[in-house]
Amino acid sequence: MISSLRRTALTCALGALALGATACSGGGAELSHPGRVGRPAASPSAVAPTGPPTLAPGPAGLTPVFRSAPEPKGRTVALTFDADMTAGQGARAASGEHFDNPRLIAALRALRVPATVFMTGRWAEQYPVQARDIGGDPLFEVANHSYSHYAFTGDCYGLPSVPGGRMRADVERAFAAFRRARVGHVVPYFRFPGGCYDRRALRALTPAGVTVVQWDVVSGDAFATDADAVTRQVLDGVRPGSVVVMHCTRSAAPTTERVVRAVVPALRAKGFRFVRVSELVGAARKA
Ligand SMILES: [Zn+2]
Repeated sequence: MISSLRRTALTCALGALALGATACSGGGAELSHPGRVGRPAASPSAVAPTGPPTLAPGPAGLTPVFRSAPEPKGRTVALTFDADMTAGQGARAASGEHFDNPRLIAALRALRVPATVFMTGRWAEQYPVQARDIGGDPLFEVANHSYSHYAFTGDCYGLPSVPGGRMRADVERAFAAFRRARVGHVVPYFRFPGGCYDRRALRALTPAGVTVVQWDVVSGDAFATDADAVTRQVLDGVRPGSVVVMHCTRSAAPTTERVVRAVVPALRAKGFRFVRVSELVGAARKA
């Protein structure tokens, strides 16, 4: 699993380099480890503005990190989709590059698959109608993937970095963008761009009251062209309680809709039930 994850992270990084793309969230492993944040704490965090379960802060009050449910109820799995867009990509969107993927969202609806969308604030500004539409569908929940899709560590796939003093503000700016776009069903979960974080970043985000959500299964959909290979990687990796990271950005992840259409029936045939991340976090909190 780890070697597979590292290989994919490398592919993702190389892909990002080759394509000149800035977004590679989800393809990456964290570049530095924040120390063992450990098992989810048993007591709930006091910060839950909209009611979904969150984890209690880790040691020294650090922002808690969730990767997968250690003892899920049954064979559950959460598909997550990162809606990447960097602060500097407006010109590319204006010239026709698609950072959205409405056919993927339509496929999830047709298949009745609950999912969690990790959206950047910049994406919500670029696609406010879609952002509102996703948040307005009870099938989905919308989580925070930063405003700018800049890195929260110094070295993360060549992404520009958010200065330490502005990390919390960047996260809160994304929540503000969701409010402006009137996005519903926003949950207090945050995913670092590129998955890159360290102890300093976790400390900086403590006042934001978010639970960081990573993953245990890398789909490898970022810059992939072989849908079958991505499908196999997902099916090989999923365990009960898994969080799978994928993307809903057509230009950077063109195979994802096909992968979903293959993965969903295959996992259902194995007895898996699709859930939103909030259900897994709730299960982890009770475990
Ligand atoms: Zn990302």
